Amino acid sequence: LEPAYQFMVRVRAPGGVATPDQWLTMDRLALQYGNGTLKLTTRQAFQMHGILKWNMKKSIKEINDSLMDTLAACGDVNRNVMSNPNPYQSEIHQEVYDWSRKLSDYLSPRTRAYHEIWLDEEKVVDSKSDEETEPMYGKYYLPRKFKIGIAIPPSNDVDVYSQDLGFIAIVEEGELKGFNVAVGGGMGMTHGDTNTYPQLSRVIGYCTPDQLLDVAEKIITIQRDYGNRSVRKYARFKYTIDARGLDWVKQELHNRLGYELAEAHEYQFDHNGDRYGWVKGTNKKWHLTLFIQNGRIEDTKEYPLMTGLREIAKVHTGDFRISANQNLVISNVTSHKKRKINELVEQYGLTDGKEYSALRRSSMSCVALPTCGMAMAESERYLPSLISKIEVLLEESGLREEEIVIRMAGCPNGCSRAALGEIGFIGKAPGKYNVYLGAGFAGQRLSKMYRENIGEAEILETLKPIIVDYAKHRKEGEHFGDFVIRSGYVKEVLSGTDFHE
Ligand code: SF4
Repeated sequence: LEPAYQFMVRVRAPGGVATPDQWLTMDRLALQYGNGTLKLTTRQAFQMHGILKWNMKKSIKEINDSLMDTLAACGDVNRNVMSNPNPYQSEIHQEVYDWSRKLSDYLSPRTRAYHEIWLDEEKVVDSKSDEETEPMYGKYYLPRKFKIGIAIPPSNDVDVYSQDLGFIAIVEEGELKGFNVAVGGGMGMTHGDTNTYPQLSRVIGYCTPDQLLDVAEKIITIQRDYGNRSVRKYARFKYTIDARGLDWVKQELHNRLGYELAEAHEYQFDHNGDRYGWVKGTNKKWHLTLFIQNGRIEDTKEYPLMTGLREIAKVHTGDFRISANQNLVISNVTSHKKRKINELVEQYGLTDGKEYSALRRSSMSCVALPTCGMAMAESERYLPSLISKIEVLLEESGLREEEIVIRMAGCPNGCSRAALGEIGFIGKAPGKYNVYLGAGFAGQRLSKMYRENIGEAEILETLKPIIVDYAKHRKEGEHFGDFVIRSGYVKEVLSGTDFHE
């Protein structure tokens, strides 16, 4: 008998967009082949857990039949391209989403191996050279994974500074004019190795939409040619840039492009969280952002979330958008359908999070145990109960409605971008976390370690006086992350090279 090995399947959805039919396919496959749940990831993709080995091929084939795929959802290539699911500026969203799709397609690996292995395409005797098979990636692909996200200010929900390559949409008089280009972000590090650190991307210029694919391609080829291929943990683009300098990257990019990026345009981010509830877009259609705690879609006796969303998908004629904060937007709802969808929302008790504290609505965690093999501590299964205890402290101080970005990761790989949490926890060992404070509310600054390797009792003891201090001494409108720096709890970290100092 063969052991019942089980796998996780990650399905990419550029910009996090899925049609109702695609939603129904994911729902069915999760029930039929997976563990009966779906996870919306922090990169706007789907994850299905518990797929048994003998069901892998069938599930990948059916995902492909629904016009989604798992290609480049992992591996040393460009990953799922993120973009803002912004329901507030619907026509700009459509344009930016179209660019995220184009980027995703343009930067996908060209190899037919995926189709041969998973979709039973016949093996073609390949007479092509490596350069012909993979003109951009070449024979050895990239030294490491590569991540791209597009933000539309004032929302930085895609955490554009955490991306290897970030684009910041510049919108003037309601029109998409172009993109600022930011390079060299990344969240991962290794505990105990200060040569590894989370880093923020830096803006190096501006490009027009018709230059976007070219700019992305040339930046990727710089990393392909200069990234560290000897030591994998130093292989991300951020280390290539930090080793050689930003000016070198700009010069190299300009040489490869044959033209120079223009001066960066002004922009302003206000926040990196989601705005919940119904809004009417400029396209006269409605958009409902639901709060999905840690992105987990499942049915429990008290909360039939998965069934509710399935019933909505059966009648919905717009689309679903996974947010970068693991929430879900039921998007492009006509006025005609709004009433029906609202009935289903009420029937199944689906929530836009209003009954929860602002802290919980601003929370995010990675999967971690039991399905992530890298996890050193719990994350998704633990953060909700820790938040309940922190909520008590906040309520005592009258801060229930204060938005504080709180994030937890089961290991330092950074999938939940915990180093960009105003309060961040990174797993060290079962029940033990490093506690980080002071990231920027709009994702513009990294946090700094405040306490190392502590358990729940110490976490609460640590946070309590800071929360009381914040309630008493914050300035008007001052965010928690700014306050802890001004009050001297932690130092400001504007570059990852200072993260461990
Ligand atoms: Fe990612 Fe680490 Fe969390 Fe696993 S435990 S999901 S690798 S951050």
